[in-house]
Amino acid sequence: MNIKMVKDNNILVEDENNSSKTGSVQGKQTSNNQIDWQNIDIKENILNTVSVDSLSKFQFIPFEMGDDFVKVAVVDQSDLNTQNALKFFSRKAKRRLEIYPIDLNSFNNLISKVKNKFLGVENALDVYEQSKENENVGGIKLRKRKETVKILKDAPISKMVESIVENAIDSNASDIHIEPIADHVRVRYRIDGDLKTVITLPKKIAPALVSRVKILSNLKIDEKRKPQDGRFRINDLGRTIDFRVSSFPTSNGEKVVMRILDTKEGLMKLDKLGIQGRDKEIIERLIHEPYGIILITGPTGSGKSTTLYSMLKLINTENVNIITLEDPVEYILEGVNQSQVRPEIGYTFASGLRSVLRQDPDIIMVGEIRDSETAELAIHASLTGHLVLSTLHTNSAAGAIPRLIDMGIQPFLLASSLKSVMAQRLVRSICQNCKKPIDNLPEGTQQQIKRELSSVNRSVLKERGVEVDIDDPNSKVVVYEGVGCPKCQGKGMKGRIGIFEVIDTDKDFSKIITQGVLGTKLEDEARKSGFTTMKEDGLIKVLTGLTTLEEVERVTEDDDEEEQDNDKYVKQINMSAESNDQSRESTNQENAHQEGISQGGDMVVNNNEEKDPPSLDPGNFQ
Ligand SMILES: [Zn+2]
Repeated sequence: MNIKMVKDNNILVEDENNSSKTGSVQGKQTSNNQIDWQNIDIKENILNTVSVDSLSKFQFIPFEMGDDFVKVAVVDQSDLNTQNALKFFSRKAKRRLEIYPIDLNSFNNLISKVKNKFLGVENALDVYEQSKENENVGGIKLRKRKETVKILKDAPISKMVESIVENAIDSNASDIHIEPIADHVRVRYRIDGDLKTVITLPKKIAPALVSRVKILSNLKIDEKRKPQDGRFRINDLGRTIDFRVSSFPTSNGEKVVMRILDTKEGLMKLDKLGIQGRDKEIIERLIHEPYGIILITGPTGSGKSTTLYSMLKLINTENVNIITLEDPVEYILEGVNQSQVRPEIGYTFASGLRSVLRQDPDIIMVGEIRDSETAELAIHASLTGHLVLSTLHTNSAAGAIPRLIDMGIQPFLLASSLKSVMAQRLVRSICQNCKKPIDNLPEGTQQQIKRELSSVNRSVLKERGVEVDIDDPNSKVVVYEGVGCPKCQGKGMKGRIGIFEVIDTDKDFSKIITQGVLGTKLEDEARKSGFTTMKEDGLIKVLTGLTTLEEVERVTEDDDEEEQDNDKYVKQINMSAESNDQSRESTNQENAHQEGISQGGDMVVNNNEEKDPPSLDPGNFQ
């Protein structure tokens, strides 16, 4: 843009009250040294005054908006058409522009990000307009309900609603407003408490849009004069999300608000979370035990609280008193006494637990065990007739045991209270709508996968639906990918699913804890009852088309650090225990030796996750 020219070119800007004042497009060229185009987050509301097509065509992109300015990245400021488009945009946005130069490459990356975000809605709008022309449907003035239902079920409007809903979930919105206003329909999301306009659409589609939502939630579509309430639920791969819908007549037409009852992955059944087979059986059995402690481990963002909530939901019945201590309360569970801890006023997990115990609880959920005091109280509670659910910040399931012992828990207390430890990670799932087997998976990769699964009980593989025979060198390993479709907005991936490992601390296992046996030994013992590691569970999910090798590799690659982590705890433990186990692998001894852990004592120290860990080389994967 010719900066000077634009600077001198004052533009009439309308403010909110429709009074006119003069603003200007300030072509202030700003240094963009600090702008990281790669990681810039473009807020939806910036884009509601300009179409993505225009952005592509004129090669500019607004990326930050203040009260009276918009920052715009522009590829070629000298282009006359771009200058005109910018003037038009400034007027529409009612703000002056601050221009930042951007190179074509960064611009293209940015625009494709924006497209992914909004294409769903824009496409649907296009298709809707076309279908109206082609079929002469007349859009929204439909007389018969049946007919209306059919039209609204048809692709364009239904897709548009779907996109609006999906974008809302992706943006962690709590509410969606679809509201006809003077000359258009405004779609707003409430995100972190604030309403933000995400898109504006032509007014004429408002009734169709609102009617589609009403149909979804079983409201009377021909009743437009009275407010109505309803609900609907969407089921996506691994996600169940409820919407509470309210319609409301306004002078501009009907408005609907959808409350998203779950801004997280949803309270879904365990198998939808990805807890399958033996893991699911264990958890379903143990959460119905009258006492004991069940732990979920994993780093932040691994979906631990979603799993906890799903478990609570399964055991939330009228005849039990469930109390939670959370930081923060992420999801409201009807009938559960949920409490938010406030460490700043001394209301901590530990002090909260003491109070909870005086509230006659049956089941206690403690958001996280972070310190010795909480650990001791939780174990104590679980030993005195309460079922305790909590989380711990370790990478592997077995890692929870040395961690708790390090927090001062006596091994024998732990052995008698611990029912199960489960570790988890989240992986992105393949879009089931456009899933295809990958042709010609390299032989090396196939062998690697077979090797990685070699410790898994063959009956577990069969039961989980793995088709390849890992003992047969000629049996072909088949993995999948999403090729991209409208349902996944071309990404090939849709939603997330967990990968898990679940230790069932049965009698033998408890004995091992008491003996102070740690690390792989724990896993070896667990294997007797069909234990699979997170990575193995992940690979099974790869072979059954739920996720990709890259995803499993990505979330399990920090396992090496875990081993070192374990060492730290092992070294701090000073206790005597017996082990008659003579079958230690020499590699384990060597490792332990190298790591400076004495082999002279009675305690078997073994921290290797795998005897011979063949690491998957991501480079091998296509
Ligand atoms: Zn797809």
